[in-house]
Amino acid sequence: MVNCGSKGSDVRGQPRILISNDDGIAAPGIAVLQRVARQLSDDVWVVAPEQEQSGASHSLTTRRPLRLHQLDERRFAVDGTPTDCVLLALKRLLRDHPPDLVLSGINAGSNVGEDLTYSGTVAAAMEATLLGIPAIALSQAYIDGHGIPWGTGEAVAPEMIRRLLQRQWPESTLFNINFPAVPPGTSVTIAVTSQGRRAIADNLTDGVDPRGRPYYWIGPAPEHGKAEPGTDVAAVADDMISITPINLNLTNLPVLNELRDMFEA
Ligand code: MN
Repeated sequence: MVNCGSKGSDVRGQPRILISNDDGIAAPGIAVLQRVARQLSDDVWVVAPEQEQSGASHSLTTRRPLRLHQLDERRFAVDGTPTDCVLLALKRLLRDHPPDLVLSGINAGSNVGEDLTYSGTVAAAMEATLLGIPAIALSQAYIDGHGIPWGTGEAVAPEMIRRLLQRQWPESTLFNINFPAVPPGTSVTIAVTSQGRRAIADNLTDGVDPRGRPYYWIGPAPEHGKAEPGTDVAAVADDMISITPINLNLTNLPVLNELRDMFEA
């Protein structure tokens, strides 16, 4: 049993920050996020999946045991999902001194609109939120063939996080931040957005494997049409930083009231 949450390992007076992601422990974006977190605290911990888990959503590994591999004093890999990582970090590794903040990312590619329901990046922040720890998901948009402009998000993330930490953290809520696909150094504005929707076309590629059997490969969803203004989808398309408050209570309140009239009246 690893337990690094004991006294002596904490850095006094500094917020404890836990970092996870869904691109895996070796992904470049998690190194960027570590640099961001180190601007806010010296007490930064990383618990991330051994393998890429993009599209894992909020899945939990229950049919086999999980292993926590220590790579460094405060850096661990888990052979599981982003949700597994946050769960193990909060319930075992850091249980005696839980983090004040969980950061997830920085994901290679935006997480907007419907992505929120597929994203392992957002799911790590969801898990932290469910367990009562403030959490932020961060993603960096990029254009295929142009590299990932990590410096764009890295330049503004520390100050955005600092400002979010200054306010009372809302209950059951995480913040989803997306940085636009513009070169580092570009001046970017922040848009406060709602979760949008995209007009998603068929994203299945059909092929035939070397043994002659058909296969289907899910690719990035081709988009068409214009995004609704005020949404995360529109903001990132317009080269703005998007920040969306995401509520983990999924109840549709107007419909709940309609149902009461229908079934309870
Ligand atoms: Mn990912």
